[in-house]
Amino acid sequence: MPPTCSTSTPWPARRDSRRTYAGWSGGRPAWPGDTVVVIGAGFTGIEVATALPSRLQALAPRRPVRVVLIEADPAVGPALGASPRPVIEQALDELGVQVLTGRRLVRAGPAEVELSDGSVIGTRTAIWTAGLAANSLTARVNGTRDGLGRLVVDRFLRVPEAPSVFAAGDTAAVDDPAGHRVLQSCQHAIPLGKFAGHNAASDLLGHPLEPFDPGPYLTCVDLGHAGAVATAGWDREVRLTGEAAKALKKAICESYIYPPAHDADALLAGAARRPHPAIFT
Ligand SMILES: Cc1cc2nc3c(=O)[nH]c(=O)nc-3n(C[C@H](O)[C@H](O)[C@H](O)COP(=O)(O)OP(=O)(O)OC[C@H]3O[C@@H](n4cnc5c(N)ncnc54)[C@H](O)[C@@H]3O)c2cc1C
Repeated sequence: MPPTCSTSTPWPARRDSRRTYAGWSGGRPAWPGDTVVVIGAGFTGIEVATALPSRLQALAPRRPVRVVLIEADPAVGPALGASPRPVIEQALDELGVQVLTGRRLVRAGPAEVELSDGSVIGTRTAIWTAGLAANSLTARVNGTRDGLGRLVVDRFLRVPEAPSVFAAGDTAAVDDPAGHRVLQSCQHAIPLGKFAGHNAASDLLGHPLEPFDPGPYLTCVDLGHAGAVATAGWDREVRLTGEAAKALKKAICESYIYPPAHDADALLAGAARRPHPAIFT
């Protein structure tokens, strides 16, 4: 599978996935190769599980493939919160993804997985999406690390215990000005890189450092042929769904996150630009 950030699934070439997949929910596939189990219903697991039905249907139109999404929490998308959950649940239902919450994976074999409730699912394809970790290089820096192995930095992104080191992207743990801890995400990695680079250079040149401020927070989760859901703020108020959210997701993945790497003037001009669409500001 390519990264879920890509939106190569044609849109709006939507099919009636419910009709195609409904019979599989709870059904027993002919052999384990017909079932794909996705473990973890966070950002990545939801995007993978909702992308799979159309991808698999395109690859094997006549095979009765079943997609099962496993989540340890009682609800899907626990970190996403209650607001976008109905949109996500509706998409999973529409796409015929079988959702098993309140259960953990305890064993994965070559042709089956076992869950904490004792149930066994025949499968040759288990996709593990649970668990992020910072690059192991962070362990070599004298500093405090959070549960993800990220270096805890000050508001200038400097490691207090190692003042010549600045951390950015998925390796840095810092709060935004409102006290929300950054996530290991593109939208935080980009401003973290900008501020860390600016501050490291300023430190060398004796110029003032800029306190980190990533700007407004948004979430845009791809939902395969069911569209996408876009939210604003840390309470994740739903702003866009369906085709409109899908168009935004496509723009984020194909445009907003890429700097003009081969054009020095454009790169410099965009250095202070925040990649947030106006709708979220
Ligand atoms: C499947 C998936 C889907 C995602 N979807 C989204 C999304 O929809 N929205 C979102 O906001 N975020 C998403 N993310 C998260 C986002 O991709 C990361 O937060 C972001 O890429 C972090 O940027 P980074 O520069 O810190 O690290 P990376 O993008 O991981 O870049 C680090 C680079 O350093 C290189 N490297 C590692 N070690 C060394 C070394 N010793 N020397 C030199 N180079 C080295 C690596 O090869 C890599 O190229 C997704 C992540 C994954 C895995």
